[in-house]
Amino acid sequence: MDLRVLGCHGGETPRHRTTAFLIDERLAIDAGALTSQLDLSDQARLDTVIVSHSHLDHVRDLGTIADNRAQLDCGPLTIAGTKGTLAALRKHFFNDLIWPNFERIPSLEEPTIVYRELPFETPTKVLGYDVTVAAVHHTVESAGFLINDGNGVVAFSGDTGPTDRLWELLDATPNLKALVMEVSFPNEQQALATLSGHHTPNTLIKDLHKLKAPEDLATMLYHIKPAFQSDVEKQCAKLKGVNLHVLKLTDQFIL
Ligand SMILES: [Zn+2]
Ligand SMILES: [Zn+2]
Repeated sequence: MDLRVLGCHGGETPRHRTTAFLIDERLAIDAGALTSQLDLSDQARLDTVIVSHSHLDHVRDLGTIADNRAQLDCGPLTIAGTKGTLAALRKHFFNDLIWPNFERIPSLEEPTIVYRELPFETPTKVLGYDVTVAAVHHTVESAGFLINDGNGVVAFSGDTGPTDRLWELLDATPNLKALVMEVSFPNEQQALATLSGHHTPNTLIKDLHKLKAPEDLATMLYHIKPAFQSDVEKQCAKLKGVNLHVLKLTDQFIL
């Protein structure tokens, strides 16, 4: 699996991009930085975007990529996610008010986007991958994903604070290669992290130790708030018994 980081931050500046990961050029996880980081030919090559939840920093570029693709002869883009997330996108984003309903553009017969619901915990084929959805804890319905390409599994936490089921599913997964894991705020901002359903290094280390062997799992951190980037990195560097890497926009991995 070729995993490329397009966006890995909890906010945007010229040096920070909101969440988006590209797998083998055709599958994206979240849409925070699809059009800012991919040129038109790469946008046209995408087949499916799996969205973790409905928050704007994870869905925003669905709007701009749909608009671009409506002018390219590349077929519909599949937007996959849980029932609640897709319902929010239909009602609050592609609603002919905030943005056009690209399910009907240019026509119902040839839409620019199609939705695909992913059930919780039942492995579902998406392109060539088995995708398992794990419910996590955030302020809206939010999902983590276990993506199995047949050679191994790469997991994405989605936006979440302390949670349980994700760790149970990961412990039950053979050949787990890496976890892309959220952490957002420094320990001093615990109240804000709790209120907004995110992790600090203090809650992150407690959650990672719900795994039987957290030190064996390559854990790649994303969603740090730009204002707190150096504080969170320093605090994460002190965490013990884990195998952490803070993601950068230039990161690309063969997993
Ligand atoms: Zn969120
Ligand atoms: Zn977010």
